[in-house]
Amino acid sequence: MQEPINCEKCYNRNRIIMEWQEILIGKESWPFLGEIALRTFIMLVLLFLGLRMTGKRAIKQLSVFDLLLIIALGTTAGDPMIYKEVGIVSSLMAFIVVFGGYRVITYIITRSKGAEKVLEGVPIYIIHEGKATELSLNYNELAMDEFFAELRNKRIIHLGQIESAIFETSGEISLLLYDKKRVKPGLPIWPHKLRENFEVIPEKGLYACTYCGHTEEIDAGSTCLCPHCRKNKSWVKAETYG
Ligand SMILES: [Zn+2]
Repeated sequence: MQEPINCEKCYNRNRIIMEWQEILIGKESWPFLGEIALRTFIMLVLLFLGLRMTGKRAIKQLSVFDLLLIIALGTTAGDPMIYKEVGIVSSLMAFIVVFGGYRVITYIITRSKGAEKVLEGVPIYIIHEGKATELSLNYNELAMDEFFAELRNKRIIHLGQIESAIFETSGEISLLLYDKKRVKPGLPIWPHKLRENFEVIPEKGLYACTYCGHTEEIDAGSTCLCPHCRKNKSWVKAETYG
């Protein structure tokens, strides 16, 4: 006959095994893993066929619609892979609606300029002649820090090099640069230069507003609010390199 203490040990051991089993495979049984492999394979084939039908080759920048498609597909495709109670046919029905909807919206966008504007937005001029445009100053969704990071990626040193910068609906930035002879003094966009900013101007010279890039000559000892953006009193020495 077993000692009661041993029984308690057995009970504890069994409980630990059960808990681990639940952590590893939840409430399903081990043979269900094979079914998951089959379900996942079927869903991947369906997903691949669906995505080919959208006509997309690769996604570099996500438009709002690409994002919508991905979010909708995530649940539709993922659930039947691992949940026993979700069948593949119900997921297929959802696929048809998601991909069908995507095709319809794409068709409407290609046919109507107005619909394209509403559904995809319009390209926005962010920089014109070396400084932020009025529109970009009022456009809250565009963080200047992120924009400067993009410009650094494109090897831009200061805003005076840029004739125009456009924020495309795809999320990319297109640049039109001045040729070397026409580069103007402008706001440096590299952090170590931006950190050397002043509210009281130390010596007479050309300074650029750290917020919008407006550049003008300012006298020593002055403090001034930027006349272009009217939001900022901090200035850095304008960069002329280019
Ligand atoms: Zn400004």
